Amino acid sequence: MADPSARDSPCPPRQRLQSMARQVRAFLESESQAGLVAVPRGSTLAGKPPVAPGAPAGETSPPQAPVVAGEAAPAPISESRAAAALRQELHDQVATARTLDLFDFGTGQPEEGVSREEALSRIAAEVAVCDRCPELVAERTHTVPGQGNPRARLVFVGEGPGQEEDRQGLAFVGRAGELLTKMLASIKMTREEVFIANIIKCRPPGNRLPTPDEADNCMPYLMRQLEVLRPRVICALGGTAAKALLQTHDGITRLRGRFYPYRGTLLMPTFHPAYVLRNYTPDTRKEVYDDLLKVKAELAK
Ligand code: URA
Repeated sequence: MADPSARDSPCPPRQRLQSMARQVRAFLESESQAGLVAVPRGSTLAGKPPVAPGAPAGETSPPQAPVVAGEAAPAPISESRAAAALRQELHDQVATARTLDLFDFGTGQPEEGVSREEALSRIAAEVAVCDRCPELVAERTHTVPGQGNPRARLVFVGEGPGQEEDRQGLAFVGRAGELLTKMLASIKMTREEVFIANIIKCRPPGNRLPTPDEADNCMPYLMRQLEVLRPRVICALGGTAAKALLQTHDGITRLRGRFYPYRGTLLMPTFHPAYVLRNYTPDTRKEVYDDLLKVKAELAK
């Protein structure tokens, strides 16, 4: 199976696939109406069957009458070359989308004979010379690939390095990191047991949010790390991580507190430690603690 996270073949984001599928569908529909192509009923290219006028929501047009034996079948309509090429392209895109959906981290080590340690350090070495985001490259002191136990069953994913992380080249070593250590202790775990990474591997100037392009550029590294680690649970720290991983616009308050299936693992979004530090109330702390207890229970299964 093609590696959808490989640098030279970055996986197209789902929205791009969906928008492409919509465009091709619209094109095929217009060609179909013009009599240039025949889009078979029920084909994935045909899109959703139309809703019958006046039918309750969810109900579609009644199926067309089957061709009666002996009745002359309509003459096949030939497909233009452009339409055939587009049809092929759409099929390929759909295949890629399916691969992404079905792709999980349980397929083994990325290369035969390469240990997890080695695979992770190769990714870190690529990150160290990455030049995909010129503004971040110009400002960074160190890249921060993420660190931790190569056999971790729990992986934390934060937003991006802050000042201290940029200085040391390590994830979550500033104040938020100290709180993360305490959060782990509250469920009787240590940093040595887990792996800690971020959506982006370079510090955004002034600690601004990563741009969507920066997140897209960096995501393949995280995907490859997760593929090597194959954790049981991923804990997304904060809205940026949760939204980027789950490809949603929903906020962290809505997302947190429950597991989402994620490529063969489970993903638990919770508040970012930096948010907890800013809102150090018993309620916020209890919410994070409850989320972590669920994670701990899942790991114990
Ligand atoms: N905040 C993050 O999201 N990541 C870090 O590594 C540090 C602070």
